[in-house]
Amino acid sequence: MPELPEIETLRRDLSQLILGKAIRRASVRTPRSIRAHSTFEEFEEPLAGATVLDVNRKGKFLSFTIGSRRDSTFALVAHMGMTGQLRSFSLGEEIPKHAHVRFEFMDDTELVFVDPRTFGQLYLDGIDESGLAVSLRRLGVDPINEPDRLLQALKRFSGCGMGVKWLLLDQSKICGIGNMYADEILFRAGIRFDRPGRSLKLDEFTGLAGAIGEILNQAIVLRGSSLKDLQYRDVNGLIGGYQDRHQAYGREGLECLRCHGIIDRIFAKGRSCFLCRSCQR
Ligand SMILES: [Zn+2]
Repeated sequence: MPELPEIETLRRDLSQLILGKAIRRASVRTPRSIRAHSTFEEFEEPLAGATVLDVNRKGKFLSFTIGSRRDSTFALVAHMGMTGQLRSFSLGEEIPKHAHVRFEFMDDTELVFVDPRTFGQLYLDGIDESGLAVSLRRLGVDPINEPDRLLQALKRFSGCGMGVKWLLLDQSKICGIGNMYADEILFRAGIRFDRPGRSLKLDEFTGLAGAIGEILNQAIVLRGSSLKDLQYRDVNGLIGGYQDRHQAYGREGLECLRCHGIIDRIFAKGRSCFLCRSCQR
């Protein structure tokens, strides 16, 4: 599933690509991809003739600011789910299978929502004074957009008995981190995934905040991670480059790059957790 670095890569590319463009029409093929709406028209009609004014992100969500024909603004929200991609094409170019929603622009380019497993979705929403979709208010601190609030958000874990990995995955506390980057972050910070939040000391919270910033920023620089399934693709269909830098995730049975022990894989709460038992305490 694409996480913060992959979505931020998309956001930056889309800002270059579609900012200021006028939408000729949006067309939906698969109701499940716009399941917050009861009809295709409810989604398509407001977008026809509208303009893309801004491309924002919170956690794993993209929030496009759309200027309507009637001079009002609203948000178009995109969540990629497991396998969603937003891909750019020239009109007439062959588009991939599983293209569920298409946005055709006045300049004869189009943006296509491709999603083989259909867990992703697009929906229209109101916009608030921060320029983000109203529905994204429920998300916690974004570690890249709000780095100065990160340590404070982490310190709130000290009231929780749950394992730190599950706290990192709770999008209402900190948003944008998923299973893969949580394992990389905890390896970098030297903390086991199942350490209860309340057992963490102040220097461990500081270390965790540092690890979150370092890992996510490095992954953004390398345009995110594409795993073996190659499901994560950027707007041009290219894969990311951070998967080759993973130190824990996906490295079961391989040598720990820090202590030369072996990386373990443990299943917990339906998730794979990769860790080094000697480096992570
Ligand atoms: Zn190790």
